[in-house]
Amino acid sequence: NATRLLGKTVLVTGASSGIGAATAILFARGGANVILVARRIDALKTVTDACIAAHKESGLNQGGKFASVQVDVSDKAQVAGLWDKVPQDLRNVDVLVNNAGYVLGVEHAGDIADADIEGMFATNVLGLISVTQLLIKDFKVRKSGHVINIGSIAGREPYAGGSIYTATKHAVRAFTGSIMRELVNTPIRVTEVQPGMVETEFSIVRYRGDTNAAAKVYDGLQPLTAGDIAEEIVWVASRPPHVNVAELFVMPVNQA
Ligand code: NDP
Repeated sequence: NATRLLGKTVLVTGASSGIGAATAILFARGGANVILVARRIDALKTVTDACIAAHKESGLNQGGKFASVQVDVSDKAQVAGLWDKVPQDLRNVDVLVNNAGYVLGVEHAGDIADADIEGMFATNVLGLISVTQLLIKDFKVRKSGHVINIGSIAGREPYAGGSIYTATKHAVRAFTGSIMRELVNTPIRVTEVQPGMVETEFSIVRYRGDTNAAAKVYDGLQPLTAGDIAEEIVWVASRPPHVNVAELFVMPVNQA
């Protein structure tokens, strides 16, 4: 029921492109306020403008407050200072979408640079944990809230050439399942959405900017779009308050 989103406030990390951008825009279309978080402020502002337009088009005339917030989630001090960059009237967040994340490289474990290992863990795992800790404090005080973490098929199945990324996404799944159990007797909900292959900038980042190699990944299959996953995230967030979708594993129809 989309009316459950009216006037809610959603914080989306990694909102400057791909799944996060599509999610922010879809929440805006559903009548929610959105705080958009990422490192690239210009891209964030473009997505924020798209949120404003989507909200106007919806004709709902509800909520409709948006903020672009430049925060690197892998930097604990920046996460701690996040509220300083958010307008007062957007600080009561109802839904957190922990989406910021990436994979870099396809090397086998012995050949991966320390900086790449540390970078993926710092963003995908430690960043997600820092942002969750920041929000969960508020959720506990207000006795409401929903944490939606973006995991991956890579958090369910390891694969060659993905040792570090799959390790980070397995960690996301373990963390998400644990906090869901910790909060089980509270109204706070915890969900993990686990996409299969989605065509976004993800593959371009993985292949370090080589767009040809990035595109080859999708040979012979029709990947999901960022909008497909955004629809699942918004669906999860708009279930009745007593319903917690614990995990949602979404694959392209022809991905093995
Ligand atoms: P994109 O590369 O399009 O988006 C990644 C987003 O994360 C960008 O907005 C980027 O913004 C942000 N981000 C990366 N590092 C940081 C950081 N340190 N601090 C803040 N923001 C950061 O890829 P997707 O949309 O595909 O990826 C979104 C999520 O979905 C990721 O967690 C990914 O692991 C997951 N996923 C993706 C799949 C796919 O096939 N595409 C499959 C399964 C899961 P900026 O650079 O501006 O900081």
